Amino acid sequence: MSHKANQRLKTKLEKGSTRAKVVIQTKIYPSEELTVVANIKGKTQPDERLVFSAHIQEPGANDNATGVGVQLEMATLAAKLFQEKKIDLGRTMTFLWGDEIISTRRYILEDKKRATGIKWGISLDMVGENTALTGGSFLIEKMPDPSAIWTRGNDKHSEWGGEVLSLAEMKPHYLNDFIIDNFKKQGTYSNWEVNTNPFEGGSDHTPFLDADIPGLLLWHFTDQFYHTDNDRLDKVSKATLKNVGTAALASALTLLSADKSTALAVLKNIEIAATNRLAIEFELSKAAMAKNSNFKEQIKILSAWEDWYHKTMETVRDLHTGSDEILNTAIEAAQQNLKSLVQKQKGKLRQ
Ligand SMILES: [Zn+2]
Repeated sequence: MSHKANQRLKTKLEKGSTRAKVVIQTKIYPSEELTVVANIKGKTQPDERLVFSAHIQEPGANDNATGVGVQLEMATLAAKLFQEKKIDLGRTMTFLWGDEIISTRRYILEDKKRATGIKWGISLDMVGENTALTGGSFLIEKMPDPSAIWTRGNDKHSEWGGEVLSLAEMKPHYLNDFIIDNFKKQGTYSNWEVNTNPFEGGSDHTPFLDADIPGLLLWHFTDQFYHTDNDRLDKVSKATLKNVGTAALASALTLLSADKSTALAVLKNIEIAATNRLAIEFELSKAAMAKNSNFKEQIKILSAWEDWYHKTMETVRDLHTGSDEILNTAIEAAQQNLKSLVQKQKGKLRQ
């Protein structure tokens, strides 16, 4: 649709229902579905991998030449650093360029053995916006956490919108806070706004999650030019591309060479994130109760976050091969601290 037609339609819809006459010219023909796969093979655990995915089939500059381009830059730079022996990867770094969702899903489903080694999946989709022109900020769409059930406080859905999830659909994992932390650091460093949104779906992170592989989305929303003929190169920011590429590649390098010390560091980060999150949720619950909200409902919310972070702390084990006493003790201590924190909060709410 042209940007003009888009604006006209929006203006009309703001005034109520409207009718549109749409003339569509289309062509259906047999074609091949192709995917480009690039790997930098890991040295010690080559079967374990992180997969980046950028879809090629949408024709806009931001959606999704930016994802395709940033990913190409990341792959080229990583290959160069690898050849110059400046980086060493324990696990394999994989890049996919293909049809949105379809290519990623095939990569996961068509080789069961390969799929068991995919530890993380990250989708790059609309990652280069010049937000002064396009509107919405950079977003990290989180794996399902309780903010996708109880969306409150600073959590909010993008204009894309999301369904209310159930507790059974939660995906507790350190990947959320690990990526958020890295991107926030890049944001502080370069004065770049980084926000998050509860799970919504609809891009290359969903096939990973469907296969029970930790996955999230790097994107922007909303972009007033998205899916219109004005999604052109002049809406793309070099600085944004650099920020996304740098933080994504740095995160990948850490994960792909992670060991016990990484697991302990990530656990620390999770503990901080859990404490901050529970402090926020406690205040929101207190405020809700002051407005006569059900006590049981508030307890349910706090318990959901406790459970999510309890399980998330458990997941850091996958950064280290084998069992380890120090790591076990640290995880148990973190879980214990979390438990007593939430117990105290519940006690205070009861008063
Ligand atoms: Zn897209």
